[in-house]
Amino acid sequence: KVYPFKNVVAMSHMLLQPYVSEAQVLVDMTCGNGHDTAFLASLMKDDAVLYAFDIQDCAVARTKERLDSLGLSHKTVVYRQGSHDDLVGHIAEPIDIAVFNLGYLPSGDHGIHTKSETTIKAIKICLHKIAINGIIMIAAYPGTEAGAQEEKALRRFLQSVPQREFDVSLWQPINQIHCPPVLYIVQKRG
Ligand code: SAM
Repeated sequence: KVYPFKNVVAMSHMLLQPYVSEAQVLVDMTCGNGHDTAFLASLMKDDAVLYAFDIQDCAVARTKERLDSLGLSHKTVVYRQGSHDDLVGHIAEPIDIAVFNLGYLPSGDHGIHTKSETTIKAIKICLHKIAINGIIMIAAYPGTEAGAQEEKALRRFLQSVPQREFDVSLWQPINQIHCPPVLYIVQKRG
């Protein structure tokens, strides 16, 4: 498969690919239309567990439909409707991969946008639960007012994450007009 260096989702998948097949516990924190969940489910081991969270019922339903239509229903996917900062606390096992694709549901209600307070709260819980070498991947979209506010707060928070415990970096296109998306990559050090 060819991954173009084009957008945050392609970049996120490319960076995650070698880790997904080794992971035991994976979480899609904002499953939306199910593209990220399908990517993770397609590459994960048969005995791995993937949690798919979204605050909207319709997103959870769309994600399930997508996985069923792609023949991925044999994978262990736990679907939950709710806010990720509540739901992630219920995962008992160490998390190997957590994916946040922030913003609103494309072809859905653009008024339902991830919020910096709950996003950062959920990331803080992930930082406690993430396994050694585990990855938290966060795609942020500063192109809207809500997205810009969220990305600013997120950057400030991620810059304060202790270097002794985590490597934190970002990827961003630099020749795009307007405000290109940003991909933040957090890895727990060994
Ligand atoms: N990952 C999705 C995909 O592959 O299709 C796209 C996600 S979309 C950009 C952002 C999603 O975040 C929306 O579906 C929205 O409902 C969800 N969302 C917003 N606030 C949330 C929260 N507090 N907890 C969980 N999901 C949330």
